[in-house]
This record gives sequence, structure tokens and C-alpha cells, in this order.
Amino acid sequence: MTDKTMDVFIKKTGGWAASQLEACTRCGICAEACPYYLSTGNPDYTPIWKVELLSRAYQQRYTLVGKVKTALGFNKAISDEDVRDWSLIDFNACSMCGKCAAVCPMGIEINKLIGTVRAGVTAAGYTPKGLMDKAKAQDEFGSPNGDGPEAYADWFASAEKEVGIKVPVDVKGADVLVVFTSLEITGKKSNLYSLAQVLEAGGVSWTTSLEARDAFNMGTIVGNGKLQKKLLGRIYDAAKNLGVKKILVTECGHGFVALRDNMPNIFGEALPFEVTHIAEFLPKLIDDGKIKVDASKYDDGKTYTFHDSCKIQRAGGIMDEPRTALKLLVGDNSFKELASNREEGLCCGGGGGLRAIPEAFDNRMAAFKLKLDEVEEVDADVVVSTCNNCQLQLKEGLGFYNVEDVEVKGLIEMVADALVLN
Ligand code: SF4
Ligand code: SF4
Repeated sequence: MTDKTMDVFIKKTGGWAASQLEACTRCGICAEACPYYLSTGNPDYTPIWKVELLSRAYQQRYTLVGKVKTALGFNKAISDEDVRDWSLIDFNACSMCGKCAAVCPMGIEINKLIGTVRAGVTAAGYTPKGLMDKAKAQDEFGSPNGDGPEAYADWFASAEKEVGIKVPVDVKGADVLVVFTSLEITGKKSNLYSLAQVLEAGGVSWTTSLEARDAFNMGTIVGNGKLQKKLLGRIYDAAKNLGVKKILVTECGHGFVALRDNMPNIFGEALPFEVTHIAEFLPKLIDDGKIKVDASKYDDGKTYTFHDSCKIQRAGGIMDEPRTALKLLVGDNSFKELASNREEGLCCGGGGGLRAIPEAFDNRMAAFKLKLDEVEEVDADVVVSTCNNCQLQLKEGLGFYNVEDVEVKGLIEMVADALVLN
């Protein structure tokens, strides 16, 4: 098993990763950015320790000192037990939030190195069971929760009864292909209804697809490149076949980044369509005058704040657009920024697949407490987010800490609820 981990590490430490590992000065700045280390004080959770296995493999294989030490038996070879231990660290105590990389003065993309460790752990078969079950289900059925095309067809059809809109499915020649996250069909079916209302009001030419139905990408989460490519391929092929100009991702963060940023590299060509996220698409509909919103809807005396999702905001760069829309909806005076925001936003604690790992619960809740402290600091009544996974984590965390007077809302529902229909 360890051989497989080493194979992955060696393949990946040849170029880019090697230069990244060499550049680290061990300054420790990244540790102060990591929500799991900060909230638990566990030294195993520092970002740099999370890539220790990779560093060791690199030193043993590629540095003269490492080679000599290994030959003399001074270097400890990586064991199965090590790989198991690092699975607990890199999966259960890292949401791949990227804040460590954002603060590193040497520009080291430490979250991506952690992704390599995850890939090595997965190759050895030590991925946490909860995550592997989801990965297998998505491979087989198309969604991590096991929902196949029939379940999505029913969901799409239900919009007619709920909001009187016939959701277009697999319509060739539509401009925009909307791709959901499986979290919506399981936990927030109303997002479809809200989004359908907004898109129809905006006169958008759109379609859904029973093939490209889920932006979630368990291959990305567990570090299985083949699965990542297969899942991206389903969406890529469907978008090409339908001839759309744009893929619109709803409330998925990692899936959005995988589609927009990884897909061109993985398929080795520029995409024949654009990939966008509701966090920028909906504000643009407002900005372009395609939809009108009634701001008095949120004239409720409440204080609103915005939770920056690691993938959509920090990695995706979509920071101004949702804020502009939110301020338009609630008014400048009702909006307050959290202490850590935009590129420096704190992870909610539930990204990177942690919500599918029961053993990571304590870490998730510990990391969430940092977010809660910031929410309470600004006395917010409502936390708004553009990611469904974050919303679920925020709600769970609020429940865990018995906070009953803070609501969590998504931007889609807020825009839909304030729509002015002619
Ligand atoms: S902040 Fe960068 S240079 Fe400093 S320890 Fe972390 S990865 Fe290394
Ligand atoms: S990616 Fe985020 S959670 Fe993971 S080590 Fe870096 S700061 Fe910590």
C-alpha cells in the first residue's frame, strides 16, 4: 500500500511540488491561518506538518543528504501506519481552504501540496470511509448521495407545481446550462424553484441536463485524478452536445473551481464555453437591468453579513459581486463585514469533504467556533453565503452551539424573494 503512496508522491514531486517544498523557510506563518490548528492547538494540524510525508519522500528520493541518510538507514521509510496517520490529518483536519497558501510569503501553494498527500493516501486505500462511499456512489450513480437521473427529473418537474415554471431539460441550443450540487436536491430543493424564477424573470435562455446534473466532484475531494476527469467529462460532454455558451454552477464551490480552472488543463484545450457561478451571474442580472429587486423586502432592522466561501471567493475571486447585490438588497447600513473577509476569510470548517467524515465532527465544530465568534462580534442576525455546503455547516454549527437567533440564507433565495415581477 505504501508503495502506491510513494508512487504518487514521486510522480508529483518531480517538478512543481519539489520547487514548492524547497522554497519553504519554515517560518510558521501558515499555521496562524489554519482554522483547525488555531481552534484546537493540535500541532499535527499545522499546514506544514500536513505535507511532512511529502517532504520526507522528496528528501529521501531527490536530495543528496536524504539519499545518503536513507542509504545509511538514518531516514525512516514511510510506513503504512504513517499513511493512515496522515489520512487523519489531511482529510479530517483540512478543508483545503487555501488560507495557508494565501498568507505564505514564499507563495507556496500548500493546499495543493496537501491535495497531493490526499492523492497518495487515496492511492493506498486509506481515504476515510465516509468519503470513499460518496466517491463510489458518484462514480456509479452520478451523485455522491446516489441520486440518479430519475430523481433529478422528478425534482426538475416539481418546479411546475411549486412555482409554475416548466424547467427546461436537455434543451439543445440554450445559452446557459445550469449545473446543481447534490446538496440541493437532498437539502435545499427550493433553490431550483428560486433560481428558475430568477432566470425566467431575467429572460435567460437556459437548460438543465440529466447527464450534467451535479457539479460536485468527489474525485477532486479525495484526490483521485481519474475520477475527477470522468466526472468533469460528463459535464463537458453534455455542455458541448447541447451547444451552450455558458455553464452556470449554482451553490457548489469546489465543483465550480474544478470546472472553471481545472477542466481546461485536464482536457488540454480552451473550453468552448464559459463557466460562471451564481455569485457573479445573479448580481450581473441585476446590474444589467435584466431583473429588478425590491430592496424594501429586507427593510427588517436586521444586520446582515457575508460569509466568504473558500472556493468561490478566495479561490474563485468572486468577492465584490455578491457583496454589491447583498448591499443593494439590504442597504449599506444593514450590512457588516466579518473581521476576516474576502481573501482572508475564515473557512466555515465544513469544506474539503469534512461533512462526509463522521470522525471529523469535533474538528468541524471547533473550526466553526472561530467563525461564530466573528459573527457574534458584528452582532449579525443573518449570515449570507453563496455555497450550499457552507450553509449546511453554518446551520449545523449554530445548532451545535445553541445559537437560535442567527439565520443562514443563500443569495439565490434572497434575490428570488425580492424579485419584482411585471
Ligand atoms: S508560510 Fe510558507 S514558507 Fe512559511 S512555513 Fe508556511 S509554507 Fe513554509
Ligand atoms: S488549506 Fe486551510 S485547512 Fe488546510 S492546512 Fe491550509 S489553512 Fe489549514
